[in-house]
Order: sequence, then structure tokens, then C-alpha cells
Amino acid sequence: MDMKAAFLHGHGGNEVVAVGTRPVPGRPPGHVLVRVRAATVNRVDLYMRDSGAGITHQLPQIMGLDGAGTVEAVDADESLLRPGQPVVLHPGIGCGRCEFCQRGEGVLCVRMSLLGEHRDGTFAEYVSVPAGNVFPMPSGLSFTEAAALGVNHLTAWRMLFAQARLKPWESVLVFGIGGGVSLAALQLAKLAGARVIVTSRDDTKLERSLSMGADHAINGATTDVAKAVMAATGGRGVDVVFENVGAAVWSSAMKSLVRGGRLVTCGATSGDQPPADLRRIFIRQLQILGSTLGDFHEFRDLLGFVERTGLKPVIDSTYPLEQVHAALDRLESGAQFGKVALSIDSAALAP
Ligand code: ZN
Repeated sequence: MDMKAAFLHGHGGNEVVAVGTRPVPGRPPGHVLVRVRAATVNRVDLYMRDSGAGITHQLPQIMGLDGAGTVEAVDADESLLRPGQPVVLHPGIGCGRCEFCQRGEGVLCVRMSLLGEHRDGTFAEYVSVPAGNVFPMPSGLSFTEAAALGVNHLTAWRMLFAQARLKPWESVLVFGIGGGVSLAALQLAKLAGARVIVTSRDDTKLERSLSMGADHAINGATTDVAKAVMAATGGRGVDVVFENVGAAVWSSAMKSLVRGGRLVTCGATSGDQPPADLRRIFIRQLQILGSTLGDFHEFRDLLGFVERTGLKPVIDSTYPLEQVHAALDRLESGAQFGKVALSIDSAALAP
């Protein structure tokens, strides 16, 4: 049986992204066949399209890391999931046997296989994943909103709460508000009680962030960010810097931190070799923390937090799967505010 999917058949621009038919994946024992209703596009989808360098994969490969949908088929003796149940996916399939998996840190697995990177992903009507990667969907979310949790909000969750150990009485500076992960950080940090300062080069995005609860907004194009942060914090600096911009903001990020502050990063859109400023790092005893994705137990905590707080991921725009090129263009433009989503069928927009 065939299904509709968006898949890569080469590397380059959108011309290597095809929308056509692929076989419905088989479901090995212990796996769940999920009918995908919605997915969102992530920066790594662009990376896989452009080159996928350093990521072991075979073409053609179905794109997409995150997704939400319903259980189509499970093992007869499956006790936690049932056909028809709304679910959201964790994209990382660990080996279960390496040093890190055995320690319970599957996110560090040396043989990690990610949907849409190392194996067929979610931009398709069906995907087959181990039952451990399938989580009940929080109530009150659309499939589109739920899909955004699996990569975007999970990444921000681990960065803020596991890596940077943000506390409710602390302050966090979020660079480049408007991108999905930055907005997730704003939502999560505010709901956790922290004070949030945001930056952008776009006043409209700053206005929208303030309306979402940001405590202070700085235009990084017209203002010295570090000076503005110091002014906004009584000369103290923030406890945590959250960033995925990289080189372009590194210097102001370092100068915005309080003594002993933590910088957590999950990306380097503007360059990955910033000046290290080592003297500042050791004299002021700063911590630099790298992070990517999150563990199963962190995803479970995030989903509980979403259920408890009513958090809804910000969706910038939703395209039907057939318009995946337009969705990728929208993400690449940097003009978006929130996640760019794909609906795999008409149910994706239903509450
Ligand atoms: Zn492993």
C-alpha cells in the first residue's frame, strides 16, 4: 500500500524535495504505526535538504522530525496505547545499549537515529516508531500545536530546566525572539515564573512578545543589547542566556550574564566560531552549556506541564503537505513568528 509523503531524492534546493507516494512503512513488533495528522518544519529539515552532511542516511528519505496524529496499529498486547488515540512523537530512537542509554541519558546515545535525519520521518501519512517514542497528546491542543512540542518545545525545555536549571525567581535573556525555539523558551520560562527579556531586530516581533508576557524587549539592531540588559536588571545582568543565533550575539550574550551565570545554546545560525572571551568566562565563572533535543523523561515532564498550564505553541502558518516547498521557504525567510506547520490531512486544523 502506498501513502502520500514529502521526501528527499537528492541534496540542493527545493527541487530535491518531492511530494509523491512512498510505501506505507511496515510495523515490526514493539512498534506503533501512527497516522500523522500534522508536523512542523525545523531548521534541520533545511539542513537535510541542503546537504545532510555528517548525518548517515539513504535517499530517498521521507522528511520531518516531529509529528502528532492517531494510533493506527499496535501490538495486540500493548497496554498503554490503543488504536485511534491521539499521540505526539519523540523523534529520537536510541540504541538502548550504549553507555549513555544504559545511564538513562538516551539523548546522548552514540547511535541515535532521528526521524527525518537517519530514517524516514513524519512528512507522510504514516510513520512507524518504537512504542516508547509515542506519547499521549495533551488535551486542548490541535494536532498542529501538539506536533510542535516534539522537537521545538522539548529542546527549549531541556535547555532551560535541565541544562541551565532556571529557577522561578531568576531572569533569562532570550535572543532572536520569533523563531520557534525562542518563543517556546519565552512561554516556558514565563509559565515557570521567571523574568524574561527578549531581543529581535524586528519591532513587530518585539511587540508580539510583549503581548505574550515578555517583561522587557530590546531591539538588537538599534540598541546595545548588553547595556540594555544591564539597565533593565539594575546593573546586575541575567542569570541565564538562551540562544541559538551563535557568533552574531555571542559577545553581547557574555556581557549580559551575571557572575556565575549560565549560557545555554542549541544552534549557531549566524556562525559557530565566536570569540570565546575566556578571561570573562573564568573570572566571572560563567557556564557555557550545549544542548540538543531532550530525553523521554523530559518529554513526559513537558507534556505534563503543557497539560497543567494550558500552554499552546505559537503557530505562524500552516500549509498542506503538497505545499511543503512554501513551508520550507517560509522557515528559511526568517520572517515567521512561531512554528511553520504542515497539515497531513484536513483534520490537522480541528481543535
Ligand atoms: Zn545508545
